[in-house]
Amino acid sequence: MKVKQNLRVRIDADAMERIWHWTDLATGEFSCLGTVTDDIIVGGVQLFDQICTAASTELDQEALGKFLVTHPQPERVRAWIHSHGRLGVFWSQQDEACIDGLANDACLISIVVNKKREWKARIDVWQPFRLTFDDLPLEIRVPDQNLRSECEKLFNAHVVEVQPVLLPDLRGLPRQPYQPNHRQGGGWPDFDDDLADWR
Ligand SMILES: [Zn+2]
Repeated sequence: MKVKQNLRVRIDADAMERIWHWTDLATGEFSCLGTVTDDIIVGGVQLFDQICTAASTELDQEALGKFLVTHPQPERVRAWIHSHGRLGVFWSQQDEACIDGLANDACLISIVVNKKREWKARIDVWQPFRLTFDDLPLEIRVPDQNLRSECEKLFNAHVVEVQPVLLPDLRGLPRQPYQPNHRQGGGWPDFDDDLADWR
């Protein structure tokens, strides 16, 4: 299918590193959630309260609800990542149920990893049709460290920043920064009033 050929999941290097740390720390399984941009880049991975065993991780609905309520961008939480510990990477029946439990009107990115640094990534959509795109490439997005200095050079070469001009206030009130689009007391007089003064 052509659409699948171009599909890939990207993940911020920082997010991937956190996932590997938690994978190493967990004896068995663990789950975390992440945000997804419109370009399908996973980032901002976070843990939530959970009870894990060697072979399962419960996606507790109450903990999930609490997580989403306190998240600054709950509508962006569209990635579910979990580890299988020392087991292989595959989608278990429980995983399929979990993915369906996270159904939404956009999409869900799921990534399963293990301690051997293996992974599997998929995208599920429910609207307008239920579709699963499995075994997608997972690309790690490394921030370009040189971009900042290049941007600074270009910024300094092209942008002149001027401080706001402070106009003296003749009535002896504290001086206000000059703000042509904002005047206290109802804004600029309208054109007809201006004309009236000159008649
Ligand atoms: Zn699983």
